[in-house]
Amino acid sequence: MAKKEFKAESKRLLEMMINSIYSQREVFLRELISNASDAIDKIYYKALTDDALTFDKDSYYIKVSADKENRTLTITDTGIGMSKEELETNLGTIAKSGSLAFKTENELKDGHDIIGQFGVGFYAAFMVADVVTVISKALGSDEAYKWESTGADGYTIEAIEKDTVGSEIILKIKENTEDESYDEFLEEYRLKAIIKKYSDFIRYPIKMDVSGQ
Ligand code: ADP
Ligand code: MG
Repeated sequence: MAKKEFKAESKRLLEMMINSIYSQREVFLRELISNASDAIDKIYYKALTDDALTFDKDSYYIKVSADKENRTLTITDTGIGMSKEELETNLGTIAKSGSLAFKTENELKDGHDIIGQFGVGFYAAFMVADVVTVISKALGSDEAYKWESTGADGYTIEAIEKDTVGSEIILKIKENTEDESYDEFLEEYRLKAIIKKYSDFIRYPIKMDVSGQ
């Protein structure tokens, strides 16, 4: 008998998954910072085997910027970036981990620092944002791309200008509702506390910049 594939309502599945994996919304920041750290680690590992590439630790950082006026929270990294294809496969496929693939391809065994492996952490952003935009330029590429999504109903990709290699993850923070407030995710003291709680072990500097009131 021919086997049929299950159909799934992807938007509802994503909501269910996010809400069952994460007990607290604040962990979205841990997930995005760990991805940023992984992206920098990947340049580090590439530099170990590629003589053309040097790794000067001081040039690598993660930055968290809040813009209260525009209600955006941006996580910038100077990591390896994503090509158009990588944006499609790594962010366009739920539960696809480019980091797990990277570890396998580069035969990294235990003891390395790359955190990612489940391919779902990124989507935690949708707990606090209704639009997520990723602007990225891959190492060794002249082209940069913008990936944008409002959740599991799909995403768009278009070419964009970006000078430096790395990624910017821009979250349009949800508007408050009668029951829920999201303003805390634009407050410096709150962001600092979340970073301290979950990302204290990250080896790269985490800068912060908050504007507006
Ligand atoms: P995981 O980190 O477990 O692999 P995520 O859902 O957090 O899963 O991210 C999916 C993939 O998207 C990552 O494995 C990585 O390949 C890619 N990715 C996410 N964020 C970044 C980033 N800031 N820079 C480069 N690649 C990224
Ligand atoms: Mg991750």
